[in-house]
Amino acid sequence: MITEYDDPQRGREFAERTREFLDEVVVPKERSLAGGADVSRGTIRELRDAAREYGVYAPQIAEAHGGQGLTFREALPVFEVAGRSLLGPLALRVDAPDEGNMHTLELAGDDLQKERYLEPLVEGKMRSAFAMTEPRPGAGSDPKMIRTSARRDGDEWVIDGHKWWTTQGVEADVFIVLARSDPDAHPYEGCSLFLVDAETPGVEVVRNIPHMGGGPTGKSHAEVRFEGVRVPDEHLLGEEGEGFTIAQLRLGPARLTHCLRFSGVAERSLDVARAYLSEREAFGSRLADKQGNRFALVDAATRLHAARTMVRHAADLIDAGEEARVEVSMAKTYTAAVVQDAVDVAVQACGGSGIGKDLPLSDFYESVRPFRIVDGADEVHKRVVARELFADPPVDELEPLPTYREPGDAGR
Ligand SMILES: Cc1cc2nc3c(=O)[nH]c(=O)nc-3n(C[C@H](O)[C@H](O)[C@H](O)COP(=O)(O)OP(=O)(O)OC[C@H]3O[C@@H](n4cnc5c(N)ncnc54)[C@H](O)[C@@H]3O)c2cc1C
Repeated sequence: MITEYDDPQRGREFAERTREFLDEVVVPKERSLAGGADVSRGTIRELRDAAREYGVYAPQIAEAHGGQGLTFREALPVFEVAGRSLLGPLALRVDAPDEGNMHTLELAGDDLQKERYLEPLVEGKMRSAFAMTEPRPGAGSDPKMIRTSARRDGDEWVIDGHKWWTTQGVEADVFIVLARSDPDAHPYEGCSLFLVDAETPGVEVVRNIPHMGGGPTGKSHAEVRFEGVRVPDEHLLGEEGEGFTIAQLRLGPARLTHCLRFSGVAERSLDVARAYLSEREAFGSRLADKQGNRFALVDAATRLHAARTMVRHAADLIDAGEEARVEVSMAKTYTAAVVQDAVDVAVQACGGSGIGKDLPLSDFYESVRPFRIVDGADEVHKRVVARELFADPPVDELEPLPTYREPGDAGR
């Protein structure tokens, strides 16, 4: 279903070209892999070469670093189209977590870091991971609880800690690690980001945590230990003590790009459902002619439209230089629920075929569920919104309830 949004013209044209690429190259490849094993490195290389030929590779990266140079706002509809296949983001090099990590390097990296990490990442010669979450008693939803430490020793840093749910941690060549570099500072000010090469002594990938979702793209979510890991001062990413500020600059836009990739998943699910309902008959008519089925898809499409509009609103605020934390949290929570609902509606519409692997829906179904937890659980985002909603005036200073009648008032 096509809904027009007020996206910049260049972004729309680029998204159109990306859609052709998806339809002509990516979806046929997805079909050839149907329900099979994980995508090989060779297949990813092949898809990326094809994306380069179409001129759609790395749309969000500056031309100077090997991308197409779209602005954040221009790139958004492209992320959405890429999400129509689980292979799309991989092919275009807009896949998480590399996309967010490349963005972080573009924002906070110095020239040497950009040359050493950003450019090989853009080319697809390197893979990266962002290591923030820790097992108990470390930081999960509450980042103030970060226990991984970074201690300065001469012109080196020594990192000790335990991370998990580090996406792509098994395959990564480099980790961006959030560690506490000043134990005496305010919890939000004492953390820094470090670039840690995977082969550095003391880095131990404990395991790929068995998990739901991911489909054929097969990225790991790893548990990783850092024990006496020494990195030179040049591996500090951004300023010392700026870890949370930079992480926030990464996470705000990355949450929105995540929303749009998943909106693409939801949109394609509804397309699949419409096709199925149009071909299949039961009880004397096509399933697509039954109002109940139509309304289920209409409700899902309406909510999806609202989610996509919210994401663009938050993106416009970020583009205008605002942090937009509340709007990002609202958009993220709402989109995560809506895409899950849309895929569920599509699975139901397709009956047994919705569960089978001849259609992409079961992989989509597993892929969308984690989004209510990844990038901040629903409740954490609601906490952000609640703080704002109950801030002004503070609860203690609220006017009395403006009721028309008090308890005990007689009559009408
Ligand atoms: C597939 C996947 C990929 C991930 N990739 C990465 C990655 O690349 N890098 C990284 O650093 N992390 C990653 N994570 C970790 C992710 O960010 C965390 O799982 C998430 O922030 C929640 O933290 P937690 O798992 O420790 O949950 P906990 O903090 O243990 O919270 C458990 C549950 O408690 C509830 N809860 C939390 N706070 C509140 C509150 N204030 N009020 C009410 N209820 C609350 C929520 O329902 C939450 O789901 C990934 C996770 C998954 C599942």
